[in-house]
Amino acid sequence: AITMENVNKWYGKHHVLKDINIRIKDQEKVVICGPSGSGKSTLIRCINGLEEHQEGKIVVDDIELCDELNSLDQVRGNAGMVFQSFNLFPHMTILENCTLAPIHVKGMKKHEAEELAMNFISRVQIADQAHKYPTQLSGGQQQRVAIARALCMQPRIMLFDEPTSALDPEMVKEVLDTMIELTDLGMTMLCVTHEMGFAKQVADRVVFMDNGSIIESGTPIEVFETPRTDRLKLFLSQIL
Ligand code: ATP
Ligand code: MG
Repeated sequence: AITMENVNKWYGKHHVLKDINIRIKDQEKVVICGPSGSGKSTLIRCINGLEEHQEGKIVVDDIELCDELNSLDQVRGNAGMVFQSFNLFPHMTILENCTLAPIHVKGMKKHEAEELAMNFISRVQIADQAHKYPTQLSGGQQQRVAIARALCMQPRIMLFDEPTSALDPEMVKEVLDTMIELTDLGMTMLCVTHEMGFAKQVADRVVFMDNGSIIESGTPIEVFETPRTDRLKLFLSQIL
């Protein structure tokens, strides 16, 4: 579960998260959308401590994110993150990318980590690519490796920040399909995306942000089909 209470964040004088209050239950799937610069990435990055917030409280699976490094490590161990750019290590094979953190952060034995990694690599349908290097794969395949790599830490929470927005159109579906399959694993998922089809299919809740605030939230049908604010209506008219 993730709780944010009255969270505020500034970059210098720029107020980028304004009194954010949100509660995400275990296993809930939440999609965040909103215009560029509205604070979506900042919000998601605050949840695993990649960015600091200045006011308010963030609690991730009973651990409060505070200045203590200890809490950061615990939260990051529980939350896997997938970014717009795949951020794979280019000098390591797919399998090595996936076993690195389990071996060095979790202290797993190499053969155990490899067995676990192959499991997830198969799950995202790239078992035949395991011994290749990232540049030998398509963008969609690389993003599926990034997903498998995050899963190898066996997180309870998966955070996605526009995982398909850097992909060529023909590769978007394969990555979305992979993410849809993950919903079976029972993790809590928080995903920044403008893919409405995906949101309608998997999201329990859609949150619309603008200018650092949560403006509306509700089921996909409520948010997409009966928007209440002009800001959301305008946003939807632009992405359709
Ligand atoms: P996009 O859809 O373009 O990814 P976003 O909703 O994810 O946008 P954020 O990246 O969270 O928006 O940025 C929110 C605001 O904070 C923007 O005005 C941005 O310019 C500013 N910002 C983001 N990162 C930094 C930073 N490291 N230093 C200063 N300002 C930043
Ligand atoms: Mg962003």
